[in-house]
Amino acid sequence: MASPRSRAESIDARRREVHEQLANVELELTALRRTREGLSDDDEHDPDGVPLSAQWSRLEGLKQMKLEALAAIHEAEARLARGEDGRCRVCGRPIASARLAARPEATTCIDCTP
Ligand SMILES: [Zn+2]
Repeated sequence: MASPRSRAESIDARRREVHEQLANVELELTALRRTREGLSDDDEHDPDGVPLSAQWSRLEGLKQMKLEALAAIHEAEARLARGEDGRCRVCGRPIASARLAARPEATTCIDCTP
């Protein structure tokens, strides 16, 4: 392996990264909720900004993505513990190392990824 990091380390680093991103999204959601509470209905349509409702759905979508990434990271760790790491959970073939480097939580190969 060319990578100096073990799989456990890169999965762990990825988890910390996603946790941090999730925390940031939560902060933005909290800030947005406060802004929304401070506005009357008329202010919802800010002429020079993205409507709050659009910002809200963007952030909710982001949050959902981060939660799914955390679930995938958890699964990748469980597979590593079972010795199934690096194999596609659909077809059983090895997952390309470049793919694992880019997405340490990947549990499927490129071909089996929807
Ligand atoms: Zn596959």
